[in-house]
Amino acid sequence: MSMEFDIHTHSSQGSACSRMSVEDLVQAACKKGLSGICITDHDYCWDPGNLAKLHNESGVQVYSGVELSTPVGEILVYGVHQPLLYLREDLSKLTLRVEELGGVMVAAHPFRMDFGVSTLSREERGLEPIDIEELCRRSVFSFVNTLEIFNGRSSWREILAAQKAAAILGKKGTGGSDAHSTLSVGSCVTVFDYPVLNEAQLVSQLRKGSFYAKKKEETQNVLGM
Ligand SMILES: [Zn+2]
Ligand SMILES: [Zn+2]
Repeated sequence: MSMEFDIHTHSSQGSACSRMSVEDLVQAACKKGLSGICITDHDYCWDPGNLAKLHNESGVQVYSGVELSTPVGEILVYGVHQPLLYLREDLSKLTLRVEELGGVMVAAHPFRMDFGVSTLSREERGLEPIDIEELCRRSVFSFVNTLEIFNGRSSWREILAAQKAAAILGKKGTGGSDAHSTLSVGSCVTVFDYPVLNEAQLVSQLRKGSFYAKKKEETQNVLGM
């Protein structure tokens, strides 16, 4: 049985931009039949004990990650339960620390700034077309383990670019809804090749590339979100 996890979600407790309590988030994941979720609030660290309680009550595995704002873009970190915020300006140190702690780093929606949420192409907007090979040379890719390809808030142009970049970089690419409300929970997921029964198994499969990204529903394209 394949296991589907939404590994990019935001709760109102940890992200001011989210309207969804962690309880509602877990309930929505349960309704969508997901095996689990990772809550990746912005620069915020969840207490694993509280999340284990939610797991026990719901049957949905609940793990914490964090979405760090860094000079090279937003980076999702999994498997680390210690503060990393103080390292976000120094990517080399951050990468070393995450490695030391056995975590994994994923470039979140890496081309959001390049494609935006507009339905118009860059050409139609009077912008230069983008060379994906060029994008792949960005320094962020020398720090992260992989990149997010399916993000529930990305335009299809952005997703296409991320898919091409993943192929060029030889990475699998993850999927996550980036949900800020219950409606979009599970719209994009990461499907793991082997059973995930605990966080260590999730992190090790993310590190090894034993997964693929899947888009389950038409992604919402919410302007300004
Ligand atoms: Zn983000
Ligand atoms: Zn996010």
